Amino acid sequence: MSIKKCPRCGKIFSPISGSLICGECIKLEEQEFEKVRSYLKINRGADINTVSKETEVSTKKILKYLREGRIEVTEGMSDFLKCEKCGVNIRSGQYCRSCSEKVAKNLQSVLIKKEEPKTEAKMHIRRN
Ligand SMILES: [Zn+2]
Ligand SMILES: [Zn+2]
Repeated sequence: MSIKKCPRCGKIFSPISGSLICGECIKLEEQEFEKVRSYLKINRGADINTVSKETEVSTKKILKYLREGRIEVTEGMSDFLKCEKCGVNIRSGQYCRSCSEKVAKNLQSVLIKKEEPKTEAKMHIRRN
């Protein structure tokens, strides 16, 4: 069994299903997220600094939740989250709608390119 040092608390643990932090820290992180989520439920439209102060969760983490699309910015209050490609204000995630469509298309073409040599390799094996 492989063991790992948890980067969050420094404890030694054995990672389950590829987790990067220990079980205790996963629980703590979930609690933090839950705090932010329930705070936002009651205080719709609170700005990120207030949320951070009230919940004691760092603004960096709150931004991460937004980037992951786990929480979103209230409409009209979206000037702290911007599309990473074109800088337009967005409510959650990494990119605005048009940029995420472009990103999805790029990913698709990468997938298609990667699949081509695979079929060639298969044919090669058959011939031998
Ligand atoms: Zn830990
Ligand atoms: Zn964009």
